[in-house]
Amino acid sequence: MTVPFADRVKNIRQSDIRRFSAICAAMNGVNLSQGVCDQPAPDEVKAAAKQAIDDDHAIYTNLRGTAELRQAIAAKMRRFNKIECDPETEVAVNVGSAGSFACGVLSTLNPGDECIVFSPFYSYHVNLLKLLGIECRFVDLQPPDWSYASDALKAAFTDRTRMILINTPGNPTGKVYTEAELREIAALANEHNVWIVTDEIYEYITYDRPHVSIGSLPEARERTLTVTGASKTFAVTGWRIGYAVGPAELIDRIAVVNDLFYICAPAPLQYGIQAGLNLPDSYYENMCADYRAKRELIVDTLRGIGFAPYVPAGSYYLLAEFEEGRWANATEATESILHEVGVATVPGSAFYRNPADGARQLRFCYAKQMKDLEDACRRLKKLGVRQATGR
Ligand code: PLP
Repeated sequence: MTVPFADRVKNIRQSDIRRFSAICAAMNGVNLSQGVCDQPAPDEVKAAAKQAIDDDHAIYTNLRGTAELRQAIAAKMRRFNKIECDPETEVAVNVGSAGSFACGVLSTLNPGDECIVFSPFYSYHVNLLKLLGIECRFVDLQPPDWSYASDALKAAFTDRTRMILINTPGNPTGKVYTEAELREIAALANEHNVWIVTDEIYEYITYDRPHVSIGSLPEARERTLTVTGASKTFAVTGWRIGYAVGPAELIDRIAVVNDLFYICAPAPLQYGIQAGLNLPDSYYENMCADYRAKRELIVDTLRGIGFAPYVPAGSYYLLAEFEEGRWANATEATESILHEVGVATVPGSAFYRNPADGARQLRFCYAKQMKDLEDACRRLKKLGVRQATGR
Protein backbone atom coordinates (compact mmCIF):
# COMPACT_ATOMS: atom_id res chain seq x y z
CA MET A 1 0.00 0.00 0.00
CA THR A 2 1.48 3.38 -1.00
CA VAL A 3 1.51 5.99 1.71
CA PRO A 4 0.00 9.18 0.22
CA PHE A 5 1.89 12.43 -0.28
CA ALA A 6 0.59 15.92 0.41
CA ASP A 7 -1.68 17.38 -2.29
CA ARG A 8 0.57 20.42 -2.53
CA VAL A 9 3.45 18.43 -4.02
CA LYS A 10 1.35 16.43 -6.48
CA ASN A 11 2.28 18.55 -9.48
CA ILE A 12 5.77 19.53 -8.44
CA ARG A 13 8.48 18.01 -10.64
CA GLN A 14 12.24 18.34 -10.71
CA SER A 15 13.02 20.66 -13.61
CA ASP A 16 14.42 19.31 -16.88
CA ILE A 17 17.50 21.46 -16.25
CA ARG A 18 18.76 18.91 -13.70
CA ARG A 19 18.17 16.05 -16.16
CA PHE A 20 19.95 17.81 -19.05
CA SER A 21 22.82 18.78 -16.73
CA ALA A 22 23.28 15.15 -15.67
CA ILE A 23 23.39 13.92 -19.29
CA CYS A 24 25.78 16.74 -20.19
CA ALA A 25 28.15 15.87 -17.33
CA ALA A 26 28.08 12.18 -18.30
CA MET A 27 29.16 13.01 -21.87
CA ASN A 28 31.74 15.60 -20.78
CA GLY A 29 29.87 18.35 -22.58
CA VAL A 30 29.49 22.08 -21.83
CA ASN A 31 26.54 22.99 -19.66
CA LEU A 32 24.82 26.23 -20.74
CA SER A 33 21.60 25.21 -19.03
CA GLN A 34 22.04 25.86 -15.33
CA GLY A 35 22.40 29.43 -14.05
CA VAL A 36 25.38 28.72 -11.82
CA CYS A 37 28.30 31.15 -12.12
CA ASP A 38 31.19 29.04 -13.20
CA GLN A 39 33.99 31.30 -12.03
CA PRO A 40 36.05 31.75 -8.88
CA ALA A 41 34.70 33.91 -6.05
CA PRO A 42 36.76 37.04 -5.22
CA ASP A 43 39.78 36.31 -2.98
CA GLU A 44 38.61 38.84 -0.36
CA VAL A 45 35.29 37.00 0.00
CA LYS A 46 36.94 33.59 0.34
CA ALA A 47 39.58 34.89 2.79
CA ALA A 48 36.98 36.47 5.08
CA ALA A 49 34.88 33.28 5.15
CA LYS A 50 37.96 31.15 5.91
CA GLN A 51 38.97 33.55 8.66
CA ALA A 52 35.46 33.36 10.14
CA ILE A 53 35.74 29.56 10.28
CA ASP A 54 39.14 29.84 11.99
CA ASP A 55 37.68 32.39 14.41
CA ASP A 56 34.97 29.87 15.30
CA HIS A 57 32.00 31.81 13.99
CA ALA A 58 30.22 28.50 14.12
CA ILE A 59 27.09 29.16 16.11
CA TYR A 60 23.65 30.44 15.05
CA THR A 61 23.70 34.12 14.21
CA ASN A 62 20.89 36.54 14.92
CA LEU A 63 17.89 35.21 12.98
CA ARG A 64 18.08 38.34 10.76
CA GLY A 65 21.80 37.82 10.06
CA THR A 66 24.85 39.34 11.79
CA ALA A 67 24.58 43.02 12.67
CA GLU A 68 27.76 43.75 10.68
CA LEU A 69 26.44 42.11 7.51
CA ARG A 70 23.15 43.98 7.80
CA GLN A 71 25.05 47.25 8.18
CA ALA A 72 27.09 46.44 5.06
CA ILE A 73 23.86 45.59 3.21
CA ALA A 74 22.22 48.87 4.28
CA ALA A 75 25.27 50.82 3.06
CA LYS A 76 25.19 48.98 -0.27
CA MET A 77 21.43 49.51 -0.64
CA ARG A 78 21.94 53.26 -0.15
CA ARG A 79 24.92 53.44 -2.50
CA PHE A 80 23.78 51.16 -5.31
CA ASN A 81 20.00 50.65 -5.08
CA LYS A 82 19.26 54.20 -3.80
CA ILE A 83 17.16 52.69 -1.00
CA GLU A 84 17.51 54.00 2.55
CA CYS A 85 16.94 51.19 5.05
CA ASP A 86 17.53 50.64 8.75
CA PRO A 87 19.86 47.63 9.22
CA GLU A 88 18.19 46.82 12.54
CA THR A 89 14.59 46.69 11.33
CA GLU A 90 14.41 46.72 7.53
CA VAL A 91 16.94 44.07 6.48
CA ALA A 92 16.81 40.26 6.86
CA VAL A 93 19.52 37.86 5.72
CA ASN A 94 18.11 34.59 4.37
CA VAL A 95 19.18 31.30 2.86
CA GLY A 96 19.64 32.64 -0.67
CA SER A 97 17.39 35.19 -2.30
CA ALA A 98 15.19 32.16 -3.01
CA GLY A 99 14.82 31.93 0.79
CA SER A 100 13.98 35.65 0.93
CA PHE A 101 11.34 35.20 -1.75
CA ALA A 102 9.79 32.15 -0.07
CA CYS A 103 9.71 33.82 3.38
CA GLY A 104 8.31 36.99 1.75
CA VAL A 105 5.47 35.17 0.00
CA LEU A 106 4.68 33.10 3.11
CA SER A 107 4.45 36.36 5.08
CA THR A 108 2.12 38.17 2.69
CA LEU A 109 -0.17 35.84 0.70
CA ASN A 110 -2.89 33.32 1.50
CA PRO A 111 -3.90 30.32 -0.60
CA GLY A 112 -6.36 31.51 -3.25
CA ASP A 113 -4.76 34.97 -3.52
CA GLU A 114 -3.51 36.08 -6.92
CA CYS A 115 -0.05 37.27 -7.88
CA ILE A 116 0.67 39.02 -11.19
CA VAL A 117 3.67 37.42 -12.91
CA PHE A 118 5.31 38.48 -16.17
CA SER A 119 5.85 35.67 -18.70
CA PRO A 120 8.50 34.42 -19.61
CA PHE A 121 9.25 33.89 -15.90
CA TYR A 122 11.83 32.29 -13.62
CA SER A 123 10.28 28.89 -12.99
CA TYR A 124 11.16 28.80 -9.28
CA HIS A 125 8.88 31.81 -8.67
CA VAL A 126 5.90 30.20 -10.33
CA ASN A 127 6.51 26.79 -8.75
CA LEU A 128 6.77 28.26 -5.28
CA LEU A 129 3.60 30.31 -5.74
CA LYS A 130 1.79 27.17 -6.95
CA LEU A 131 3.11 25.14 -4.00
CA LEU A 132 1.55 27.69 -1.67
CA GLY A 133 -1.80 27.63 -3.48
CA ILE A 134 -1.39 31.11 -4.96
CA GLU A 135 -2.76 31.73 -8.43
CA CYS A 136 -0.54 33.36 -11.01
CA ARG A 137 -2.13 35.91 -13.35
CA PHE A 138 0.28 36.18 -16.25
CA VAL A 139 1.11 39.22 -18.33
CA ASP A 140 3.11 38.62 -21.52
CA LEU A 141 6.47 40.25 -22.19
CA GLN A 142 6.88 40.77 -25.93
CA PRO A 143 10.20 40.24 -27.75
CA PRO A 144 12.50 41.68 -28.91
CA ASP A 145 12.69 44.14 -25.99
CA TRP A 146 10.35 42.19 -23.68
CA SER A 147 8.06 45.14 -23.05
CA TYR A 148 4.50 44.55 -21.81
CA ALA A 149 1.24 46.08 -22.98
CA SER A 150 -0.10 48.50 -20.36
CA ASP A 151 -3.66 47.43 -21.10
CA ALA A 152 -2.81 43.78 -20.43
CA LEU A 153 -1.19 44.70 -17.14
CA LYS A 154 -4.18 46.78 -16.04
CA ALA A 155 -6.56 43.98 -17.04
CA ALA A 156 -4.62 41.42 -14.95
CA PHE A 157 -5.70 43.02 -11.66
CA THR A 158 -8.77 41.47 -10.00
CA ASP A 159 -10.25 41.81 -6.53
CA ARG A 160 -8.12 38.83 -5.47
CA THR A 161 -4.77 40.36 -6.57
CA ARG A 162 -2.44 40.74 -3.60
CA MET A 163 0.98 40.96 -5.20
CA ILE A 164 2.82 41.91 -8.36
CA LEU A 165 6.16 40.23 -8.96
CA ILE A 166 8.96 41.59 -11.09
CA ASN A 167 12.43 40.28 -11.86
CA THR A 168 14.91 42.89 -13.08
CA PRO A 169 17.33 42.17 -14.72
CA GLY A 170 15.31 39.14 -15.71
CA ASN A 171 15.85 35.44 -16.12
CA PRO A 172 15.41 34.10 -18.85
CA THR A 173 14.90 37.26 -20.97
CA GLY A 174 17.59 39.62 -19.66
CA LYS A 175 14.90 42.32 -19.51
CA VAL A 176 15.88 45.41 -17.52
CA TYR A 177 12.72 47.31 -16.55
CA THR A 178 12.77 51.01 -17.41
CA GLU A 179 12.01 53.63 -14.80
CA ALA A 180 8.80 54.48 -16.69
CA GLU A 181 7.65 50.85 -16.45
CA LEU A 182 8.49 50.71 -12.76
CA ARG A 183 6.55 53.93 -12.13
CA GLU A 184 3.54 52.50 -13.92
CA ILE A 185 3.75 49.27 -11.89
CA ALA A 186 4.08 51.27 -8.66
CA ALA A 187 1.04 53.40 -9.54
CA LEU A 188 -1.08 50.30 -10.25
CA ALA A 189 0.12 48.61 -7.06
CA ASN A 190 -0.93 51.70 -5.10
CA GLU A 191 -4.28 51.90 -6.83
CA HIS A 192 -5.04 48.23 -6.03
CA ASN A 193 -3.22 48.19 -2.68
CA VAL A 194 -1.03 45.17 -3.43
CA TRP A 195 2.50 44.13 -2.48
CA ILE A 196 5.35 44.56 -4.94
CA VAL A 197 8.05 41.89 -4.78
CA THR A 198 11.13 42.52 -6.88
CA ASP A 199 13.83 39.91 -7.48
CA GLU A 200 17.05 41.79 -8.28
CA ILE A 201 19.60 38.99 -8.02
CA TYR A 202 21.24 40.12 -11.33
CA GLU A 203 21.26 43.81 -10.27
CA TYR A 204 24.93 44.33 -11.09
CA ILE A 205 24.76 42.76 -14.56
CA THR A 206 23.35 45.35 -16.96
CA TYR A 207 24.75 46.31 -20.37
CA ASP A 208 22.83 49.28 -21.76
CA ARG A 209 21.12 51.18 -18.97
CA PRO A 210 21.61 51.28 -15.21
CA HIS A 211 19.57 49.06 -12.92
CA VAL A 212 16.69 50.85 -11.15
CA SER A 213 15.20 49.39 -7.97
CA ILE A 214 11.46 49.94 -7.74
CA GLY A 215 11.91 50.18 -3.96
CA SER A 216 13.81 53.45 -4.51
CA LEU A 217 10.67 55.14 -5.86
CA PRO A 218 9.09 56.99 -2.92
CA GLU A 219 5.58 56.00 -4.06
CA ALA A 220 6.50 52.28 -3.92
CA ARG A 221 8.51 52.20 -0.73
CA GLU A 222 5.87 51.15 1.82
CA ARG A 223 4.74 48.12 -0.22
CA THR A 224 7.96 46.87 -1.82
CA LEU A 225 10.00 43.88 -0.81
CA THR A 226 13.39 43.80 -2.57
CA VAL A 227 15.03 40.39 -2.65
CA THR A 228 18.59 39.95 -3.80
CA GLY A 229 21.81 38.37 -2.63
CA ALA A 230 25.38 37.28 -3.09
CA SER A 231 24.99 34.24 -5.37
CA LYS A 232 25.49 35.89 -8.74
CA THR A 233 27.41 39.01 -7.72
CA PHE A 234 30.23 37.07 -6.06
CA ALA A 235 29.84 33.76 -7.95
CA VAL A 236 28.89 31.86 -4.79
CA THR A 237 25.57 30.25 -5.74
CA GLY A 238 26.23 27.36 -3.34
CA TRP A 239 26.88 29.55 -0.31
CA ARG A 240 23.19 30.38 0.02
CA ILE A 241 23.32 33.97 1.26
CA GLY A 242 20.52 36.27 0.18
CA TYR A 243 18.67 39.14 1.77
CA ALA A 244 15.36 40.93 1.88
CA VAL A 245 14.86 44.67 2.32
CA GLY A 246 11.46 46.19 2.98
CA PRO A 247 9.10 47.78 5.49
CA ALA A 248 9.92 46.90 9.12
CA GLU A 249 6.65 45.07 9.82
CA LEU A 250 7.13 42.81 6.82
CA ILE A 251 10.80 42.19 7.64
CA ASP A 252 9.75 41.21 11.20
CA ARG A 253 7.56 38.48 9.78
CA ILE A 254 10.13 37.36 7.24
CA ALA A 255 12.67 37.00 10.07
CA VAL A 256 10.27 34.80 12.04
CA VAL A 257 9.46 32.58 9.04
CA ASN A 258 13.18 32.35 8.26
CA ASP A 259 13.75 31.30 11.87
CA LEU A 260 11.11 28.56 11.59
CA PHE A 261 12.59 27.07 8.42
CA TYR A 262 16.33 27.62 8.73
CA ILE A 263 17.08 29.50 12.00
CA CYS A 264 19.77 31.50 10.18
CA ALA A 265 21.90 31.67 7.05
CA PRO A 266 25.35 29.93 7.20
CA ALA A 267 27.30 31.89 9.83
CA PRO A 268 30.91 32.01 8.50
CA LEU A 269 29.73 32.69 4.97
CA GLN A 270 27.90 35.79 6.17
CA TYR A 271 31.35 37.20 7.07
CA GLY A 272 32.62 36.40 3.59
CA ILE A 273 29.76 38.29 1.97
CA GLN A 274 30.25 41.23 4.32
CA ALA A 275 33.78 41.53 2.90
CA GLY A 276 32.41 41.26 -0.64
CA LEU A 277 30.05 44.17 -0.09
CA ASN A 278 33.09 46.36 0.60
CA LEU A 279 34.75 45.64 -2.77
CA PRO A 280 35.44 48.74 -4.90
CA ASP A 281 33.31 49.75 -7.91
CA SER A 282 36.00 48.38 -10.24
CA TYR A 283 35.01 44.84 -9.19
CA TYR A 284 31.50 45.34 -10.56
CA GLU A 285 32.74 47.15 -13.68
CA ASN A 286 35.08 44.27 -14.49
CA MET A 287 32.35 41.69 -13.92
CA CYS A 288 30.02 43.53 -16.28
CA ALA A 289 32.71 43.92 -18.94
CA ASP A 290 33.44 40.19 -18.72
CA TYR A 291 29.76 39.26 -19.18
CA ARG A 292 29.46 41.76 -22.03
CA ALA A 293 32.30 40.03 -23.92
CA LYS A 294 30.64 36.64 -23.29
CA ARG A 295 27.30 37.99 -24.47
CA GLU A 296 28.90 39.19 -27.73
CA LEU A 297 30.53 35.79 -28.30
CA ILE A 298 27.37 33.74 -27.80
CA VAL A 299 25.17 36.18 -29.75
CA ASP A 300 27.58 36.15 -32.74
CA THR A 301 27.90 32.37 -32.63
CA LEU A 302 24.15 31.84 -32.53
CA ARG A 303 23.57 34.27 -35.40
CA GLY A 304 26.25 32.45 -37.39
CA ILE A 305 24.42 29.12 -37.10
CA GLY A 306 20.99 30.41 -38.03
CA PHE A 307 19.49 31.25 -34.63
CA ALA A 308 17.87 34.61 -33.90
CA PRO A 309 18.98 35.55 -30.37
CA TYR A 310 17.12 38.24 -28.40
CA VAL A 311 20.07 40.28 -27.15
CA PRO A 312 19.69 40.62 -23.37
CA ALA A 313 19.91 44.04 -21.67
CA GLY A 314 21.03 42.42 -18.42
CA SER A 315 21.64 39.13 -16.54
CA TYR A 316 23.58 36.31 -18.22
CA TYR A 317 20.90 34.44 -20.11
CA LEU A 318 19.36 34.85 -23.49
CA LEU A 319 16.48 33.31 -25.40
CA ALA A 320 17.16 32.50 -29.06
CA GLU A 321 14.74 31.36 -31.77
CA PHE A 322 15.54 28.61 -34.24
CA GLU A 323 13.96 28.56 -37.66
CA GLU A 324 10.70 26.73 -38.20
CA GLY A 325 11.11 23.10 -39.22
CA ARG A 326 14.69 22.75 -37.94
CA TRP A 327 13.41 20.76 -34.95
CA ALA A 328 9.82 19.82 -34.06
CA ASN A 329 9.87 21.70 -30.77
CA ALA A 330 12.19 23.13 -28.12
CA THR A 331 12.57 19.90 -26.15
CA GLU A 332 13.56 18.01 -29.28
CA ALA A 333 16.02 20.80 -30.14
CA THR A 334 17.56 20.67 -26.65
CA GLU A 335 17.96 16.89 -26.75
CA SER A 336 19.30 16.86 -30.28
CA ILE A 337 21.89 19.61 -29.61
CA LEU A 338 22.98 17.90 -26.40
CA HIS A 339 23.45 14.51 -28.04
CA GLU A 340 25.02 15.82 -31.26
CA VAL A 341 27.54 18.32 -29.93
CA GLY A 342 27.40 18.05 -26.12
CA VAL A 343 26.00 21.48 -25.27
CA ALA A 344 23.18 21.60 -22.72
CA THR A 345 20.51 24.33 -23.04
CA VAL A 346 16.93 24.67 -21.76
CA PRO A 347 13.76 24.48 -23.88
CA GLY A 348 12.17 27.93 -24.07
CA SER A 349 8.75 26.38 -23.48
CA ALA A 350 9.71 25.90 -19.80
CA PHE A 351 9.50 29.64 -19.18
CA TYR A 352 6.14 30.58 -20.69
CA ARG A 353 2.63 30.52 -19.28
CA ASN A 354 1.69 29.10 -22.65
CA PRO A 355 4.52 26.64 -23.47
CA ALA A 356 3.71 26.87 -27.20
CA ASP A 357 5.01 30.48 -27.14
CA GLY A 358 8.50 29.15 -26.40
CA ALA A 359 8.34 26.09 -28.65
CA ARG A 360 10.95 27.50 -31.07
CA GLN A 361 13.20 29.03 -28.41
CA LEU A 362 16.12 27.83 -26.32
CA ARG A 363 17.68 29.49 -23.28
CA PHE A 364 21.45 29.80 -23.21
CA CYS A 365 23.29 30.69 -19.97
CA TYR A 366 26.69 32.26 -20.66
CA ALA A 367 27.99 32.48 -17.08
CA LYS A 368 30.92 30.21 -17.93
CA GLN A 369 34.67 30.62 -17.91
CA MET A 370 35.68 32.08 -21.29
CA LYS A 371 37.55 28.92 -22.35
CA ASP A 372 34.43 26.80 -21.69
CA LEU A 373 32.15 29.26 -23.48
CA GLU A 374 34.56 29.20 -26.44
CA ASP A 375 34.43 25.39 -26.37
CA ALA A 376 30.60 25.54 -26.34
CA CYS A 377 30.65 27.94 -29.31
CA ARG A 378 33.03 25.71 -31.28
CA ARG A 379 30.69 22.78 -30.66
CA LEU A 380 27.61 24.81 -31.65
CA LYS A 381 29.29 25.81 -34.92
CA LYS A 382 29.66 22.13 -35.84
CA LEU A 383 25.94 21.82 -35.38
CA GLY A 384 25.43 24.66 -37.84
CA VAL A 385 27.59 22.93 -40.46
CA ARG A 386 25.84 19.59 -39.99
CA GLN A 387 22.42 21.16 -40.30
CA ALA A 388 23.36 23.21 -43.33
CA THR A 389 24.89 20.33 -45.26
CA GLY A 390 22.33 17.79 -44.14
CA ARG A 391 24.97 15.51 -42.66
N1 PLP B 1 16.18 34.65 -8.78
C1 PLP B 1 16.46 34.43 -10.06
C2 PLP B 1 15.78 35.24 -11.09
C3 PLP B 1 17.39 33.44 -10.42
O1 PLP B 1 17.66 33.24 -11.72
C4 PLP B 1 18.02 32.69 -9.42
C5 PLP B 1 18.97 31.60 -9.76
O2 PLP B 1 19.15 31.20 -10.87
C6 PLP B 1 17.69 32.94 -8.09
C7 PLP B 1 16.77 33.94 -7.80
C8 PLP B 1 18.30 32.16 -6.97
O3 PLP B 1 19.11 33.01 -6.22
P1 PLP B 1 19.75 32.56 -4.84
O4 PLP B 1 20.93 31.71 -5.15
O5 PLP B 1 20.11 33.85 -4.18
O6 PLP B 1 18.70 31.82 -4.08
